[in-house]
Amino acid sequence: MTDTFTAIVIEDQDGKPKAGFRQLTLADLPDNDVLVEIAYSTVNYKDGLAVSGATKIARSLPMIAGIDLAGTVVESRSAEWKAGDKVVVNGWGLSETQQGGYSRYQRVKPEWIVRLPEAFSLEQAMAIGTAGYTASLCVDALVDWGVQPGAREVLVTGAAGGVGSVAVALLAKAGYTVTASTGRDSTHDYLRGLGASNFVPRAELEAKGGPLQKERWAGAVDSVGSTILANVLAQTAYGGAVAACGLAAGADLPGSVMPHILRGVALIGVDSVMAPRAKRERAWARLARDLDPAKLAAITTVEPMSKLPELAAQIVAGQIRGRVVVDVTR
Ligand code: NDP
Repeated sequence: MTDTFTAIVIEDQDGKPKAGFRQLTLADLPDNDVLVEIAYSTVNYKDGLAVSGATKIARSLPMIAGIDLAGTVVESRSAEWKAGDKVVVNGWGLSETQQGGYSRYQRVKPEWIVRLPEAFSLEQAMAIGTAGYTASLCVDALVDWGVQPGAREVLVTGAAGGVGSVAVALLAKAGYTVTASTGRDSTHDYLRGLGASNFVPRAELEAKGGPLQKERWAGAVDSVGSTILANVLAQTAYGGAVAACGLAAGADLPGSVMPHILRGVALIGVDSVMAPRAKRERAWARLARDLDPAKLAAITTVEPMSKLPELAAQIVAGQIRGRVVVDVTR
């Protein structure tokens, strides 16, 4: 183990959260039961907000940023985990209320840990990360509601982003005909490669529409919120469902109850942060079963942690395609 290591720490600077690189020692980490040597973290939208300072994510300072981590257990006071175990942690307040994954080491609580699925390397687990695991939770939510592959298509909004890319791949693999909504025409070939059959320009969904529009979708995965989500709900067919997890376009929802009370459409909220272990394991099992490694590779780029400030600004600006893995050793 190294004596000192680099981490990205959010600190208070004149009343504002400011991210910077800091040299830490193990004594700086919290006293949780499992010490993990982290190999990779990743860049999710929330990480972008935290590191760029665009939104206050950390509830106490100083805070090590990074909502995900994947690595190897070094020491454990828990009977459930032992040195050498390959593990993944997603959410549980990392970077908000708990010290996070942009660090060479972290101490975590045993109950937060998911065992690395055999299908994946540590790098692939972070290529999936919170965004990909949330996409899997969204697909599970649609399946549980009863949205089945069939005549009508399913829509994925923010399709070229992290949640969107994995959702497209998982839905296509499960047999759904997938329409991708993206603001970037340049990503059509990429999305077709993941399994999208059709496209809706983001702009078409951005203008405020009526409370009940032509029924188009059997279901949808929405990572953007706001007017786009309101329109998607208004276009969802009788008895369908929208799994909503994100707010890249805004946290508002300027719609009406009409799709819900006249068409029985469900708006299913999906949270990854505090999701119980059983849901997580089911979502990871779907990913292990259905996410083609070649498609995962097409989604992924690997970057050093030293580039995080730049990457954070890019994801907040909607410029990241797919998923970025962060190598915390560089
Ligand atoms: P990304 O930035 O990778 O993807 C978001 C995508 O949304 C972009 O790629 C872009 O897609 C689209 N987008 C960006 N800005 C706008 C805009 N102003 N209007 C409309 N569309 C826009 O982020 P992630 O995939 O990591 O996260 C997506 C959302 O899901 C975030 O809001 C995040 O906070 C949320 N999230 C929630 C979780 C939960 O537990 N509920 C867990 C994980 C993520 P395109 O270019 O294709 O149009």
